[in-house]
Amino acid sequence: MGIIVQKYGGTSVATPERVKNVAKRIVKTKNEGNRVVVVVSAPGDETDDLISLANQITDSPDEREMDVLLACGEQKSIALMTIAIKALGYDAISFTGPQVGIVTDDVHGKARIVKVGSEKIEKALNLDKIVIVAGFQGMDTDMDITTLGRGGSDLSAVAIASALNADVCELYKDVDGIMTANPKVCPDATLLPRITYEEMLELASAGAQVVNARSIEYAQNYNVPMRVRSSFNDNPGTLVVKEAKEMEKLFVTGITYNKDESKISVLGIKDTPGMAAIIFSAVALENVNIDMIVQDVSEDGITNISFTVPTGEVKKTVKALESVKDKVGIKKILTDDSITKVSAVGVGMKSHSGVAAMMFEALAEAGVNIDMITTSEIKISCVIAQKDCETAVRALHAKFNLGKK
Ligand code: ASP
Ligand code: MG
Repeated sequence: MGIIVQKYGGTSVATPERVKNVAKRIVKTKNEGNRVVVVVSAPGDETDDLISLANQITDSPDEREMDVLLACGEQKSIALMTIAIKALGYDAISFTGPQVGIVTDDVHGKARIVKVGSEKIEKALNLDKIVIVAGFQGMDTDMDITTLGRGGSDLSAVAIASALNADVCELYKDVDGIMTANPKVCPDATLLPRITYEEMLELASAGAQVVNARSIEYAQNYNVPMRVRSSFNDNPGTLVVKEAKEMEKLFVTGITYNKDESKISVLGIKDTPGMAAIIFSAVALENVNIDMIVQDVSEDGITNISFTVPTGEVKKTVKALESVKDKVGIKKILTDDSITKVSAVGVGMKSHSGVAAMMFEALAEAGVNIDMITTSEIKISCVIAQKDCETAVRALHAKFNLGKK
C-alpha cells in the first residue's frame, strides 16, 4: 500500500467546520486504499496572533521562548484534526514534530532540518492508523523546541514524505495551484498544470507565497513528488516535476512580486579589498538573508553598496552594520521599505534571448522606473517603487502573454 502525505494550511483548518471537512477528505484518501500521513499548520491567523501577544510584552522577545510559544498553534490543529477523524469512526493519532523525531539545528525561528525519524510514524501506520503530525516544529539536539520559519509546515510535510519514501506529497492550499500571477492582481491569470522544481523555487524565493521556498528546495534535493492543490475542491492542481518540456517553449512561466523587502544603502565605504567581506560577514552573523547586491562605481577611493533584505530583518542588519562602521569607514546607512521586487521566471529563458529586454520594455511602456536589477539563469528581478507594483505585474503578465487566451 502506498503512502500519501497531505499537508493542510492554516486556512483549511481555520474553523471546526473546516477541520471536519478536511477530516472527511483524509478519510476518503484512506478508503481509497492509501496509508495516510497528514501535516497541519496552526489554524487561521493563530501564528500571527501568538507573535502579536509576545510583541505586546516586548518588541524583541527571546527567540527560544518564541519557538515554545509558536509551536502551540500547530499543536492545537493536530489534536482537533485527530478528534475529528476519530469522530468519523476512524483510528488516528497525533504527534508533535519532536515526537516523530524532526531534528533541527538550533537557529530558533528558522531552524534547518538535519534528520527526520520514520519509526514512530511507520509503527502507527502499521497499526492501520491515520497519522497527524504538527508542521513547522522540531527540536534541536538539546531537545529544545525549534520552528522552521514562516510557512514551515510545507517543509515538514516534504521532509516527512522523503523520510517515509511516500508516493506523493500533496500540499493543500486555499488556491487551485500555481498560477501565472497572483489572480488578485491579474484577474486573467491561469493555472499551471505542471511546473519544474527550479521554477517553483525561483517563484517562491521571489515572493510567490503559495509554497514555502525551503520545502521546494528539499523536494528537489530528495526528489519528492509534490502536488499543489486546493482543499476546497477536487481539481488536480499543479504537479511539480523535474523537467517539463512544454514549458521551455514559453519565454516566461510566471510573474511574481515581493513587497516585504527593504533596500539598505551603505554609503562612504573605503574602496579597498576586503570591505565587502567585512560588511557581509557581519550581516551573515545575524542570519539575515540578503538578496540583491549592487555596488556603485567608486569615486575618490570611496564607494557605496546597496542591498535588499526582508523588511523584518532591517533592524538586525543595521545593528550589524553599525558594529563594523568604523572598520569600513561607513559614513551613512539608509533604509527604504517603500520598494517592491517584481520578477519574471521561466526555464524558457535558458533557450530564448531577449527576455530581459522585453521585461524592461514592458516596464518602460507602463511608466515604471527600475531601481535595481538582478538576473539568474531562469529569473529576472527588478526593484521598483511599491506604488507601481500592481501596474508592473499586470504589464509583465500581458507582455509575456500569460493571460487566459
Ligand atoms: N503556522 C506557521 C506559519 O504561520 C507555519 C505554517 O503555516 O506553515 O508560518
Ligand atoms: Mg537550544
